[in-house]
Amino acid sequence: MSDIRALTDAIAKIDGRGYKSYRDLERTWEMDGFTLIVDRAQSDPFAAPSRIRVLIDPEASRARRTGTAALLARDFAEAARARSRRRGIGRSGEIRMEHPGQVVLEQSAVRISDGGSIEARFTVGLPARGRRIDGAQALALLVDDVPYVVASTLLAAAHDSARVDEHATANETATALRAGLHDAGLIAFVADGASLARMSGNDDRPLDSESAVPFVSPESLRVELRTPSGPVAGMGIPEGITLIVGGGFHGKSTLLRALQSGVYDHMPGDGRERVVTRSDGVKVRAEDGRSVAGVDISPFIDGLPLGRDTRSFTSPNASGSTSQAAGIVEAIEAGARLLLIDEDTSANNFMVRDRRMQELVPKEGEPITPFVDRARTLHDEAGVSTVLVLGGSGDYLDVADRVVRMRDYLPEDVTSTARAIADRLPTGRRNEAVTRFTPATSRTIQVGSLDPKKGRRSVHVKVPDDRTLLFGPTDIDLAGIEQLATRSQIRAIGLALAWVFRSTGEAASVETILDEVEEVLASKGIDGFSDVLRGDLAAFRRFEMSAALNRLRRLRVE
Ligand code: ADP
Ligand code: MG
Repeated sequence: MSDIRALTDAIAKIDGRGYKSYRDLERTWEMDGFTLIVDRAQSDPFAAPSRIRVLIDPEASRARRTGTAALLARDFAEAARARSRRRGIGRSGEIRMEHPGQVVLEQSAVRISDGGSIEARFTVGLPARGRRIDGAQALALLVDDVPYVVASTLLAAAHDSARVDEHATANETATALRAGLHDAGLIAFVADGASLARMSGNDDRPLDSESAVPFVSPESLRVELRTPSGPVAGMGIPEGITLIVGGGFHGKSTLLRALQSGVYDHMPGDGRERVVTRSDGVKVRAEDGRSVAGVDISPFIDGLPLGRDTRSFTSPNASGSTSQAAGIVEAIEAGARLLLIDEDTSANNFMVRDRRMQELVPKEGEPITPFVDRARTLHDEAGVSTVLVLGGSGDYLDVADRVVRMRDYLPEDVTSTARAIADRLPTGRRNEAVTRFTPATSRTIQVGSLDPKKGRRSVHVKVPDDRTLLFGPTDIDLAGIEQLATRSQIRAIGLALAWVFRSTGEAASVETILDEVEEVLASKGIDGFSDVLRGDLAAFRRFEMSAALNRLRRLRVE
């Protein structure tokens, strides 16, 4: 939000007063596109003049560039597909760029440098007739088709400044909203007017505007966050434990999915472009059948039959509850400070254990400490907030800081009603968390187990679909990693894993590995993991990197 108005008012207020009142201007003022800092106002017209600084926020301009680049990549990918002609056998004539989808990530398909120059990376199928070069078709491809696509997208954009500005600004706004969460003590924000519902389960585009019910914040949770283009009002979800309750089909999971996608920015028109979540928020779910390597799940599961040790739990085929416990511990190990959990995708015995079951199967015979008994300590002792979608268990009312009820797709703050009910109808449960929650120390990985070699290829990284990473001789099943937004991210994670194998010593802690990968991303960008310039990579978070690492079936932990 600009302070020009406030500055104007402040000057009007001191107008005509003693010169010393200029001191009132000693603060930081947000101007259009830059920050003005009055460090020291002079006390007298003849004294040394006032010291002033101007900052142009590189984060803001970086967000604008990223938004613009994503727009260009989208346009180019669509125009390339439309313009591609069959110009011979095989892929002859194909022009292809990776489509970025609804999210806005730093990606390698189109990049805009600090100086404003644009680089687009794509592939073409050079025309062949039989196994020979088809010169006429090659000419048509390179001299007609490619220039046509470039002119109708990258060059045309230069003339449509309103559209470019819309995309740049949307991204700048989202970035500013996310940056504002921390100071406001929030873990997520959903702007009034946002449209959360999607076209379908496998189509991430927004539901048509006639059917979509726009979001309206409950009055009690409404906050206003500052952005360079003005304040934005909406629902702020504070740190702590938040329940999203409501009847089936009333929009609970849709809200949670919008929150999990809110760690990324979205294109204008997506409906979620002003829905933001702390970037250390991780969706966790049950994934029975996944492999787990040496994870300390003892805060949740302890005393397995036959005395199996759960302080370093390893399994090629984890159950619903052990996989969900491992997912939580791994997320926290990677640095997550917000967990997003939906009952739809949780193991029931991991989430709750009611009084009657406590009577029938006493704690001594039950290895699981349900999440309901850990949520509070997770927040109070480890600073990890939780947002939980629940329809079936009222036992959580005792541990919640906030309860939001979805009714006809709209949220209501029912916290005080929920408290009253919890007081009136005690569950009679005993809290089963007997130990403190101490986050496990970062595991040490034997880096040799990350060998990306397959056959004669020293690095085999392929992404055959939206949920699989082929890495060396094995595949990594990423179906349960809901916050992976694009195949380009999965590919980049594959290359990053290969980079870890090449560049890290024999053994390294998970934390070190993730830090080093982030360091490469920050200093060299996504190109830092690849020896060739490729257009099919996108930036990823440390949490999805850790998720892929942890699902590698041959992972060895010391
Ligand atoms: P729940 O988790 O409460 O059972 P869902 O979030 O799965 O409900 O939503 C049920 C259906 O309603 C889905 O098809 C979803 O797309 C749709 N829906 C959710 N929110 C909205 C909304 N704001 N406007 C229109 N349809 C919505
Ligand atoms: Mg649901």
